[in-house]
Amino acid sequence: MEDFLKELPKKAQEKQTENKKFFVKLKKKPPKNLDYVMQELHENEFKKTDCLTCANCCKTTGPLFTNADVERIAKSFKQKPQQFIANYLRVDDENDYVLQSVPCTFLGADNYCSIYDVRPKACREFPHTDRKKFQQISNLTMKNVAICPAAYNIVEEMKKKIKV
Ligand code: SF4
Ligand code: SF4
Repeated sequence: MEDFLKELPKKAQEKQTENKKFFVKLKKKPPKNLDYVMQELHENEFKKTDCLTCANCCKTTGPLFTNADVERIAKSFKQKPQQFIANYLRVDDENDYVLQSVPCTFLGADNYCSIYDVRPKACREFPHTDRKKFQQISNLTMKNVAICPAAYNIVEEMKKKIKV
């Protein structure tokens, strides 16, 4: 996994033009069974990929924290939301709560998340490859393939499976 992670930004860069063309066409005419195909590709990939050997998302990009995330996580720490925000979060350019720094404070040396049961929604859903109407998040996916080996593999398989 370490070697793959090292090469991933370069590999993603090499695929960028091809991926862009693919997603433009996909957006214009998404196949009727796209949600089903994505679900299958996502499940097959995550049967092979063990996130505990990777944690690259937690190390390199942080999630957005919604108000519901803040309340839930603060409660688990027995803190007031404002206290939790002051301790761990900042507001980014788009006015969203994000981590003060990466790697994520809640990531252990063993790649386990110390707040796993109450983790942000964005962490639960990353890399969003089983998302319904997947064609609508192509810009985000183009970024995620440079961070997430699973997303990279899923998009590669997707291009083989879906003829646009
Ligand atoms: S979701 Fe992707 S980047 Fe995050 S740990 Fe799993 S494989 Fe790695
Ligand atoms: S909260 Fe947990 S899952 Fe989310 S980035 Fe931090 S360590 Fe990773």
